[in-house]
Amino acid sequence: MIKDNITDVKNTVTEAVKRRNDLHPEMSHNDPVLIAVSKTKPVTDIEEAYDSGIRDFGENKVQEIMDKYPVLPKDIRWHMIGHLQTNKVKYIADKVYMIHSVESVKLATEISKRAVAAGRCIPVLIEVNVAEEESKFGLKPSEVSDFCKECSALPGIKVSGLMTVAPYTDDPEENRVYFKQLKQLSVDITNQNIDNISMDFLSMGMTGDYEIAIEEGASFIRVGTGIFGQRNYARQQ
Ligand SMILES: *Cc1c(COP(=O)(O)O)cnc(C)c1O
Repeated sequence: MIKDNITDVKNTVTEAVKRRNDLHPEMSHNDPVLIAVSKTKPVTDIEEAYDSGIRDFGENKVQEIMDKYPVLPKDIRWHMIGHLQTNKVKYIADKVYMIHSVESVKLATEISKRAVAAGRCIPVLIEVNVAEEESKFGLKPSEVSDFCKECSALPGIKVSGLMTVAPYTDDPEENRVYFKQLKQLSVDITNQNIDNISMDFLSMGMTGDYEIAIEEGASFIRVGTGIFGQRNYARQQ
């Protein structure tokens, strides 16, 4: 089932990339990376996705990364995509490939410290609350430039782009405007030439809206339900 879902998602991605290339010939023609969001899902499900060729997995809880990391193949790239508490960075600094959810200088400073201790440089994305929803984490678009300047001198982290979680909607077309805004913001930041800051990646699009996100320039899409089926949070604990 997971295998078939992955095939379907990949075909959908291919079609969306063609539309992007028509809509935006100026954009990078790289294919977006599909991150399989495996939060709440058992190791056996991840193994099935792995056997279908997926190497990028997304988790939003430190504990789940700690549980899954030791028992799964070492060539998996673990993406931390959820809200990250400063006091938990130490548990994952040596495990995650990228952190998509950086939204405070305090957190960036802690990641820097822990990355240096682990002898590595961690690529991070800045989470932006493009729609400025009350309930969501992330910086306001107007705060991102100053934030980049404050992170610019930190060792051990490399600000590499932006991430957003678009509003929940039945009509994904409504989110196109937010994906366009995130793309534009990344262009604006690039034009500021801030030391040590690059805008190589845009992490945007989930099961409901990833096609639109790709059309507007996503470089990472984060798909959970569309690959693994509905999550059952009750069964977790
Ligand atoms: C859970 C989650 C996803 C995946 O959501 P689906 O709608 O199941 O694809 C993507 N991004 C983040 C940040 C998430 O927490």
